[in-house]
Amino acid sequence: MKRAPSATVRREIIRACKRLDAKGLLAGAEGNVSARLAANRIAVTPAGRCKADLSVRELVETTLDGRPVSGLTSPSSELPMHLAVYRARPDVGAVVHAHPVAATGFAVAQNPLPQAALAEAAGVLGPVPLVPFRAPGSAGLGLVVAKALKGANVALLANHGAVAVGPTIDVALQRMESLEQAARIVVAARILGGERNLKTADLRALQRAWLAGA
Ligand SMILES: [Zn+2]
Repeated sequence: MKRAPSATVRREIIRACKRLDAKGLLAGAEGNVSARLAANRIAVTPAGRCKADLSVRELVETTLDGRPVSGLTSPSSELPMHLAVYRARPDVGAVVHAHPVAATGFAVAQNPLPQAALAEAAGVLGPVPLVPFRAPGSAGLGLVVAKALKGANVALLANHGAVAVGPTIDVALQRMESLEQAARIVVAARILGGERNLKTADLRALQRAWLAGA
């Protein structure tokens, strides 16, 4: 896929950070966003900065093995997870990690998001693996997330949060928003007596649609 110019990608990262903050999918300095640039480099959000206040010049550029190329501050502590995903998925152009309340609720409860109840989840979002807990920022977290995302575009991180990937920032962001929306809908359904599953034939058709578009 042809990549957008680096300056455009950097602006898109900042826009994504502001949207994640405005929608309450993270709070303060939580979460991190990155995107591929040309020449096997990525731009990633810096450590410890409030996502709502971030500016383009604060983004950190690194190589795919994590060596800093430019940037005034340290990269996100979750850089190893982002790099592991880019190495495992050459098609991925952007990685979004956040702590959306309902989706993270499922992750904290270590309760998988049901796959057979919601058409959007089955046909658009696709599989939502629940990745076992590894310390935030560790190489071990990167390994389990990269492995889970070989067959999925979103994942729940046990006792931690959620991650979404896509060919572009916009697609990764939409997937994070859809993951949170699906989690909220399931919580609402459970308040109303619990979800009822789709018929098997309908579920299969939706899963085929996801595979065709994934
Ligand atoms: Zn996190």
